[in-house]
Amino acid sequence: MFNHSISTSNLVRPDLDRFFQYSRRFFQSGSLSNNGPLVIELENRLASFHEVNHCVSFANGFWALVLAIRCLSLPKKNEVIMPSLTYRRLADVVNWAGLVPRFCEVEKSTLAISAKTVLPHISGKTALVIGVHPIVNGCDASGLENICAKKSVPLLFDSVESVYERIDGRKVGGFGRAEVFSMHASKLINGFEGGYVTTNDACLAQRLKIIRGFAFAGPDRVTELGLNAKLNEIHAAMALASLDGLAKQIKRNEERYRVYQKELEGLEGIILREFDERQATSFKNILVEVTESWPLSRELTVRYLNSEGILARAYYSPALHQKTPTYKTIKCDLPITNRLADRFVLLPCGHFVDKDDIKLTVEFLKFLQSRASQIQKHLKQNQKEK
Ligand SMILES: *Cc1c(COP(=O)(O)O)cnc(C)c1O
Repeated sequence: MFNHSISTSNLVRPDLDRFFQYSRRFFQSGSLSNNGPLVIELENRLASFHEVNHCVSFANGFWALVLAIRCLSLPKKNEVIMPSLTYRRLADVVNWAGLVPRFCEVEKSTLAISAKTVLPHISGKTALVIGVHPIVNGCDASGLENICAKKSVPLLFDSVESVYERIDGRKVGGFGRAEVFSMHASKLINGFEGGYVTTNDACLAQRLKIIRGFAFAGPDRVTELGLNAKLNEIHAAMALASLDGLAKQIKRNEERYRVYQKELEGLEGIILREFDERQATSFKNILVEVTESWPLSRELTVRYLNSEGILARAYYSPALHQKTPTYKTIKCDLPITNRLADRFVLLPCGHFVDKDDIKLTVEFLKFLQSRASQIQKHLKQNQKEK
């Protein structure tokens, strides 16, 4: 159906002149990395955007998470409580931090962990809780704050998909001990690659800044085990240009979302996860639930969409506890997660997707629905012939 494929990657293109203006500044200053002028400006702007005191940038979200976990986890404890229904590499992050993921259940209504689902897992072994915001709307962040405060365990948020969101009027960025974000090209703020941590804890911010640059606290003075996870200036230039265009982007995201909303209305069996518009929201991700009344499996639906160049993809799937990792994890019975893991699909979104693309995508879904029985028959015949 498409001569170009459309994907679920945001790939937002900031104004090119702005990107060059910023780039000229670092180029002329001669400072290309290691706390250059644009990285400092970006961190200041992000701190005020998230209404927090400190922002520390990193080469990507992954290492920002690893280092935040290392700094915040309680000494001599090794379990990190986290969702299984989440970003597919999140358990790897915990393993790189030298700790053991312990998977907990999510709430069906939010697709996120909550005080209720975390509580049974808190024990004398708990090092940290990672609250992950789902990819549409936020989790009960204050509920998690309360339970973690009560139990004296530190709370970190993976807020990669909630950059723009507010929860109960509070801006995402200031919950828990710290929050982590990504500036990968597929996310809301595009820095090609990049990540950052927001916090109101000055000591934590200082320590993170030191660790990300080989742990140099002064000339030839290394305070602990560090690594190189600094953001460089050209990535900061791209991120700043993206930030400048953010309001316009949100408007375009909303327009695309409205088209999906209208087109998907009345399509039996496919339910759009709606944004909570009582709070600030980015309208970025288009997540649909494939319900029992949809005539094809989620796998087949995705496969057929993909074959037409509509690069929809299964999300929250497989859940992390359903995989066999090469490292230790703690798995409990997670019936809600199991049930949710084969239901969700991300539909194309982002800068390269226009209204007609969306209409065609939904038209193709309607086509699949109307021909479902023929498709099934055809597949059965094929199988017999094999
Ligand atoms: C993308 C993503 C990350 C990792 O960020 P990178 O910058 O790509 O390393 C972490 N958590 C979530 C929820 C993500 O979507």
